[in-house]
Amino acid sequence: MKQGRSRPSGTPQPTLTRRSLLIGAGGAALLGASRSTAAAKRGSHVAVIGAGVFGTWTAVHLLRSGHRVTLIDAWGPAHSRASSGGESRMTRAAYGKDSIYARMALDSLKEWKALSLHSGLPIFHQSGVLFFFPTNDAYARDSLAVHKQMGLSTQALGATEMARRFPMIDFGGVEVGLYEPDFGVLMARRAVQTLAGTFIQSGGTYVTGAALPVQASGDSLKSIRLRSGQQLEADAFIFAAGPWLPKLFPDVVGRRIQPTRQEIFFFAPPAGEDRFGPKALPGWADFNGGDLYYGMPDIEGRGVKFARDTHGVEVDPDTQSRRPTDEALANVIAFRDRRFPLLRGAPLTEARVCQYENSSNGDLLIDFHPRLANVLLVGAGSGHGFKHGPEVGRYAARRLVREGEVEHRFSLASKSEVHRREVI
Ligand SMILES: Cc1cc2nc3c(=O)[nH]c(=O)nc-3n(C[C@H](O)[C@H](O)[C@H](O)COP(=O)(O)OP(=O)(O)OC[C@H]3O[C@@H](n4cnc5c(N)ncnc54)[C@H](O)[C@@H]3O)c2cc1C
Repeated sequence: MKQGRSRPSGTPQPTLTRRSLLIGAGGAALLGASRSTAAAKRGSHVAVIGAGVFGTWTAVHLLRSGHRVTLIDAWGPAHSRASSGGESRMTRAAYGKDSIYARMALDSLKEWKALSLHSGLPIFHQSGVLFFFPTNDAYARDSLAVHKQMGLSTQALGATEMARRFPMIDFGGVEVGLYEPDFGVLMARRAVQTLAGTFIQSGGTYVTGAALPVQASGDSLKSIRLRSGQQLEADAFIFAAGPWLPKLFPDVVGRRIQPTRQEIFFFAPPAGEDRFGPKALPGWADFNGGDLYYGMPDIEGRGVKFARDTHGVEVDPDTQSRRPTDEALANVIAFRDRRFPLLRGAPLTEARVCQYENSSNGDLLIDFHPRLANVLLVGAGSGHGFKHGPEVGRYAARRLVREGEVEHRFSLASKSEVHRREVI
């Protein structure tokens, strides 16, 4: 990993212990050397709350640009209930007309590959990604046009060609597919935990602690209070709390982000069968007339992954049951048996219940708090955010020092309380 490389040699190195971060309840924690009423200056102390993919990459980019960074999480990087805590996440550049996300996915891929090179076990599997459609619709056409402009080697395939190359899939009712050979699958939990490890090795401070909802009266935030009663002071704060963001900022974020229940299932391929591994089966999505299903190959023997992408019921990430439902399992099996006939009867190996944290249309949120000039809100991954982690972190770190162009689509102002999904 490269982080820390750009640290000025004179930058104070935070110690890796909690001692440097917290002074006991009632004591004054004086971690921020200077205060700014606006965004943080370079070299200042930034607290990042939330060690999911967004918070951890943001912390890494801040460290690279010479800040003193404390990363805080209530349960740890990519823990079981975090949106980033799943086994695997797809990375792809097919985004219809939304070239902004195609570009972010491509730029992020370089960082993921670099991280994968330096981790003990792979973080990126270049399995390729195949999206297929009942008709050559606008999403498929627009994706291809964007990819041509970007010089990507995406291939448009007809059903016959797909059936030849991917014989484990029944392409009945499918007219066209887009195959992206350069993309594939990210090992999500491993990626974030590896990144958090390199963040610490590079001089960042990680602390387990739960931030309480912010109480601030002025135009900037001086400290946050943790559930333990301790105070943490910093020059600037970045809240990357994923599906917990509405609970931390009920007045500002509130219903602009809605967490929904999502269930994922893994099935064992037939014994001795190698057509479901990442060398043969790409990550895939079946647009299926608007009722999208997606999945990933059998990676590291966990099973072939299947999920329905439709937003589930709205949930609270703290209290939703993590027990999969028979109904969701039956639904996925019905799809699997139709599209992947070789997997009929395949035993369930694992199931997970997670949550998307959806903005009104699927655009990400990376913007300042409307009243607190040194508080940045980062989130709304909306079921597609993981792959963009490196670029989200880069953009957030630059926004904090008011550098770079402002992307309106990431603004709080663009987020409505009325939800209509547009970014897929
Ligand atoms: C089932 C599923 C499938 C998905 N598939 C894909 C995919 O294929 N490709 C893709 O690119 N994306 C995908 N996504 C989306 C992607 O995983 C998420 O957008 C991304 O992980 C969100 O990361 P985050 O850092 O915003 O949130 P999280 O990972 O949830 O991290 C937020 C962190 O904040 C911490 N936190 C919250 N409140 C506090 C507090 N008060 N104090 C301290 N810490 C706090 C939490 O403990 C948590 O660790 C999928 C998501 C799901 C659920």
